[in-house]
Amino acid sequence: VRSALLAASRSPRIRKIVEANPLVRPVVSRFIPGTTADDALAVTNSLREQGIMVTIDHLGEDITDLGQANETVEAYVRLLKLLDGNPIDVSVKLSAIGQTLPDGERIALDNARRISEVAASVGATVTIDMEDHTLTDRTLDIVRELRKDFPSTGAVLQAYLKRTEQDCRELATEGSRIRLCKGAYKEPESVAYQGKPDVDASYVRCLKILMDGQGYPMVATHDPRLIPIAKELAAQAGRATADYEFQMLYGINPVLERHFQANHDQLRLYLPYGTEWYGYFMRRLAERPANLMFFLRSLASR
Ligand SMILES: Cc1cc2nc3c(=O)[nH]c(=O)nc-3n(C[C@H](O)[C@H](O)[C@H](O)COP(=O)(O)OP(=O)(O)OC[C@H]3O[C@@H](n4cnc5c(N)ncnc54)[C@H](O)[C@@H]3O)c2cc1C
Repeated sequence: VRSALLAASRSPRIRKIVEANPLVRPVVSRFIPGTTADDALAVTNSLREQGIMVTIDHLGEDITDLGQANETVEAYVRLLKLLDGNPIDVSVKLSAIGQTLPDGERIALDNARRISEVAASVGATVTIDMEDHTLTDRTLDIVRELRKDFPSTGAVLQAYLKRTEQDCRELATEGSRIRLCKGAYKEPESVAYQGKPDVDASYVRCLKILMDGQGYPMVATHDPRLIPIAKELAAQAGRATADYEFQMLYGINPVLERHFQANHDQLRLYLPYGTEWYGYFMRRLAERPANLMFFLRSLASR
């Protein structure tokens, strides 16, 4: 089911069918609270009142022309100006700002710089999301380049990739913000662990490297088994709760959010908004068969 949904997440034909169905919207809104920057701002304010930090993602990926890349950049600029004074983070996918176009590395770097400049001017930070493994090296190269001028630029590493332990060693340097997630794309066995036990074991090994290193680990998971392990690794490394943070996706697990709040752990939610929700939404369905059942039931019940 996971493979089929991940394949569907990149199918323009299935995308058309799903997007045209108005019954899908209420299910989508569980994971994506709105389409406008004002929607994102309203949710951000409410989360911040509860002591929860945010990273906001303007949805979009794999754009096919320069105009779309420019629109995405301007959307981030408008969002950051609207949020001026809020110490937020924005998450950016390089494929949404031109990385996969001809001469894409230069375009994506220029665009990421522009977003980073505006972010720095309003006191916000930028994290560069990680996409499929064909983009890993090029994405990390751009992160390294951005960090020369914007040292707070966050990187994302995916524990399902066999290379990631080595990437953790290289990136766990002073001040380096690193989000560790399991990975959300369909990847071949040649580069990625396929079964959950192997991915989880890799996650723990990678997290240990990050916790023992000099950077700032961002523990991005909803896995209840990994959370106490993360805390234990942080304690062993002599880290206080301010020296790392947990991250979750908006709408996935409110019970776990309350658990973090009650324990005074630092928590940041990844808050997506925009009209280009299809790929993101399909990856969330793929992560959990129960989401697909919920989705199908809600369609059938109307
Ligand atoms: C803040 C953040 C940023 C991310 N950024 C990236 C990125 O840049 N690149 C990338 O490839 N991936 C990214 N991801 C997604 C990540 O790679 C995983 O696909 C996703 O987080 C599910 O993995 P898990 O760690 O929750 O563990 P899993 O083993 O997948 O899930 C553990 C438990 O969490 C719950 N759960 C997980 N997913 C869902 C869901 N969709 N709906 C309901 N319950 C669920 C279930 O109870 C499940 O049993 C990000 C995730 C987070 C939290």
